[in-house]
Amino acid sequence: MQELREALANGDVAMHYQPIIDLASGTIVGFEALMRWQHPERGWIPPDVFIPLAEQSDLILELGSFALKTAMAAASTWKATNPNVGLPYVTVNLSAHQFHDPGLISLIRQELESSAISPERLILEVTESVALADIAETLNIMDELNRLKIGIALDDFGTGYSSLSYLAALNPKIIKIDQSFVRPKHDKKRSDTLLEAIVSLGNKLNMTVLAEGIETPAQLDRLHNLDCDLGQGFLWSPAVPVQEAIDMLAQSPEG
Ligand code: C2E
Ligand code: CA
Ligand code: CA
Repeated sequence: MQELREALANGDVAMHYQPIIDLASGTIVGFEALMRWQHPERGWIPPDVFIPLAEQSDLILELGSFALKTAMAAASTWKATNPNVGLPYVTVNLSAHQFHDPGLISLIRQELESSAISPERLILEVTESVALADIAETLNIMDELNRLKIGIALDDFGTGYSSLSYLAALNPKIIKIDQSFVRPKHDKKRSDTLLEAIVSLGNKLNMTVLAEGIETPAQLDRLHNLDCDLGQGFLWSPAVPVQEAIDMLAQSPEG
């Protein structure tokens, strides 16, 4: 833990950016910011190893505020790919701790000011299980975020408690369908039926539906045919350093 604290202080923790693609046009509409720890001896340590560790202390709040600051500063350097598509947005993952942190709103206000990006260009990713664990508190936080014009993406959708009755009340801007439905390991037929149902549910509730973890053209075709709006995955690109994200925007097909 001490090592991670030092890594953050020494600049060995970085944010990388994975493009989010509009499936109809192929245009990049935004990027998800994903944290990376470059360890001097052990090499690259993935976030699902160190984030749960950090969650056990206040270090998660420091990492979280680093993620927000860095991602919003990066977004302020991004240009539109074409005049018909707005400036790309950035989505930032929030841990449970951070989502419930009373200082979250003031931190966001402060960073909106210093990065000078418009609030519509920041989307906060909260997992379905965190958002639906305490629905009353979540609705309060959502109220404040709505006032700031900041949207929520419901992450790992389909793997949490799936309190469907609360989905409409929560009204997230985006629902992110978990990779396990996009690349099922077993029971493919059933997963595909669930995939179809989730896309249709999101569409009927007028939410933007995003499928995560698209790796093959066949998976892309299937999702496009189901009328899924957005996608992310290795088919296009993994998360890359900010300069590569900027280069990618310059090459994005006009949509
Ligand atoms: P997540 O938010 O569900 O992020 C998606 C993960 O899927 C990322 O892993 C991404 O690199 C990976 N991925 C994207 N496309 C594909 C694909 O086509 N195939 C496969 N196999 N994987 C794909 P990553 O970057 O290792 O992050 C893992 C988890 O760590 C994230 O899951 C998120 O829960 C957490 N995390 C990452 N960055 C942050 C952060 O800044 N703050 C917090 N609180 N959590 C973070
Ligand atoms: Ca995420
Ligand atoms: Ca996810």
